[in-house]
Amino acid sequence: MSKKGTKYIFVVGGVMSGVGKGVASASIGKILQSRGVEVTALKIDPYVNVDAGTMNPTEHGEVFVLDDGMECDQDMGNYERFLDRDLTRTNYMTTGSVYLSVIQKERNLEFGGKQVEVVPRIPLEIIERINKAVEKANAKVAITEIGGTVGEYENILFLEAVRMLKIKNPHDVVLVLVSYVPALGAGGNELKTKPTQHAVRSLNAVGLNPDIILARAHIPLDDKRKAKIEFMCSLEKGDVISAPNVGNIYEVPVNFENDGLGDRIFMKLDIVPPNKDMKEWREMVTEMNNATKSVRIGIVGKYFGTGEFVLEDSYISVIESVRHAGGALGCKPEIIWLNSEQFEKDPKSLKELDKFDGIIVPGGFGSRGIEGKIAVAEYCRKEKIPYFGLCYGMQIATIEFSRNVLGLKDAHTTEINPDTKNPVIDIMPEQKKNLKDKNFGATMRLGAYPALLKKGSIAAIAYGASEISERHRHRYEVNPEYIERLSKEGLVFSGTSPDGRLMEIAELPKSKHPFYLGAQFHPELKSRPLNPHPLFVAFIKACAAGKK
Ligand code: GLN
Repeated sequence: MSKKGTKYIFVVGGVMSGVGKGVASASIGKILQSRGVEVTALKIDPYVNVDAGTMNPTEHGEVFVLDDGMECDQDMGNYERFLDRDLTRTNYMTTGSVYLSVIQKERNLEFGGKQVEVVPRIPLEIIERINKAVEKANAKVAITEIGGTVGEYENILFLEAVRMLKIKNPHDVVLVLVSYVPALGAGGNELKTKPTQHAVRSLNAVGLNPDIILARAHIPLDDKRKAKIEFMCSLEKGDVISAPNVGNIYEVPVNFENDGLGDRIFMKLDIVPPNKDMKEWREMVTEMNNATKSVRIGIVGKYFGTGEFVLEDSYISVIESVRHAGGALGCKPEIIWLNSEQFEKDPKSLKELDKFDGIIVPGGFGSRGIEGKIAVAEYCRKEKIPYFGLCYGMQIATIEFSRNVLGLKDAHTTEINPDTKNPVIDIMPEQKKNLKDKNFGATMRLGAYPALLKKGSIAAIAYGASEISERHRHRYEVNPEYIERLSKEGLVFSGTSPDGRLMEIAELPKSKHPFYLGAQFHPELKSRPLNPHPLFVAFIKACAAGKK
């Protein structure tokens, strides 16, 4: 069942959701990796959806896309950002995907005529997938985050997989509980350990006890509280690690390491790590925290929650990419959310954009707020405010340019107006059949595609390369019939697919605008703190240069 020589770390959450399991898992990975042990990270989502592609970002946060086109949970983005590794679809599973493959195997007669029982079959499938991911990544340790909270029904079979592995290989498996430790009282400094004790009881009920508890609280835990949790939860001294709130998530591995987490894990897993440290990571965090030059970036979104509260989770990779680029340039970006619908209701409010050093129009779907975004693109183009369009943001810039420079007043995307006479953004023929069949799951251009860059363009200079690979998630493209006219009027398609059919980057030349660029792909999916994305760097640089 276990793979010889492989070590397994499982991360589960206690007390409530949103305690930071994703960042904790990524941080554990970073610590092990920085000390010379190769890791891979997996995410388990305990819902029936086969992947995250069919979910609205307001439901579940951003849909993260991997090189191989897998549409998955935003935590996969955290893993890639912290580990600076490209992960694959094997690293992500849901209840739906696990059942689907077991059922497919049953249909293929792969169980030799036997009755197929939920236990052990489903846990075995889960373990098999973890082993596959380890093999693919050539890793020594698999860190697997189990979504949800202990004590709920949904993740029980995943916990059973942990139990099955652990009874067979007690020295190869470490179970980490990330638990919330609330504070009572006005000052809020009296930390309460009881909810964590209850979470551990829930784990006990399924035959497990944590080996390590990461105690998430608004402040670091004092020794008394640590000792209490250790005693009540049958742990040894040193097994409770503080996970205080931080201003910058990249500090988390540093805090854990300062509290002794790496040594604890290595001891429990019987690993002697090569003697490395987190020097490069620590320096990056210090650089980010010490950056002073402020730049005001407006992000025009539409995935807002109730009221004007923005669901930052819907744009998490965009936010992180801005921060990575800022850190590398000594800038502290201030992100301000702008609701695109506001510009539709009140066009005069476009004047507000003057206060910004740069504007990002991120990806999106559907008609809500689109006219507001088109108005923003026009304003930024005319007023020479740096503009960076991500996927929909590139399509919107193309629509705006067609309407206001080419004079095609009804130019639109057929996603919104299927009957427009000027479908400057349209669906490619090969995708049309799927849509007609209402087969929406995984019907987009998904994952990594190569693109060629035009010599001397802003894009080519930013990347310092002539060929790139970037990740996509969209159905529509710039309609080839309009390319000649758009180019003639000055919109430069500086990135195209190798066959020249698909427009991947559109930009205005430096002589016309300080920075006006849209990418059909999602550069935010490939930015990492130790390796910021070149287009974000170029954008923030332009914002800082024109600072008001
Ligand atoms: N809605 C657009 C399309 O499907 C853009 C998608 C996106 O921004 N991810 O082509």
